[in-house]
Amino acid sequence: MVNVTVWNENRHEKSNPAVSEVYPLGIHGTISEFLSKAGFAVKTATLDEPEHGLTEEILNNTDVLIWWGHMAHDEVRDSIVGKVKQRVLDGMGLIVLHSGHFSKIFKALMGTSCDLKWREAGEKERIWVVNPSHPITDGLPEYIELANEEMYGEHFDIPAPDELVFVSWFQGGEVFRSGCTYRRGNGKVFYFRPGHETYPTYHNEQIQQVIINAVKWATPVKRSRPVYGNSKPLEEL
Ligand code: ZN
Repeated sequence: MVNVTVWNENRHEKSNPAVSEVYPLGIHGTISEFLSKAGFAVKTATLDEPEHGLTEEILNNTDVLIWWGHMAHDEVRDSIVGKVKQRVLDGMGLIVLHSGHFSKIFKALMGTSCDLKWREAGEKERIWVVNPSHPITDGLPEYIELANEEMYGEHFDIPAPDELVFVSWFQGGEVFRSGCTYRRGNGKVFYFRPGHETYPTYHNEQIQQVIINAVKWATPVKRSRPVYGNSKPLEEL
């Protein structure tokens, strides 16, 4: 069984009734609920738990980590970020959602500012599938439409993705690379844009399908880990 850990900052839910109304279980609770139904073994972890809920034991037993953060990126300890990064390089999958674009872990793995344009106006977003053979799009129509979302616009300061899976159009006219995959070391990373905390985005079944597909895609493949360093010849020299 695939072990998923859903990490959430869980601060907006505590301080803003508009958010706890949309996500009474917290964003992590809603995500873990639909992932459990999809057959994954799911744990949650939040910022205010000891070690942010990401102890070495939890990390070592996580196949895919999901990350949602926004207002408290700076409170995530560098030592924990370092451990998460090492786990990704060793093969753990990482799915970074929405405002996680500015998280320490995403910036560390990308090496760029990860900055973007934004506007909170509850406008329409149309998320187009631009890579229809990609496993992350399994079961989806040509596009997903969200009636109300925050706008994220280009330029998005990321390295060119290994694969571009989704492109968003916003009512105000901007476009955005909404679904991007990366390989980092032995691990796989997927960034997925939608999910502003005051909108019911993670209750949308098509959005849930993308995250379910992404967990399957990011799950480490079963193989022996590559061996690095000084190496004896396989043939006689
Ligand atoms: Zn947002």
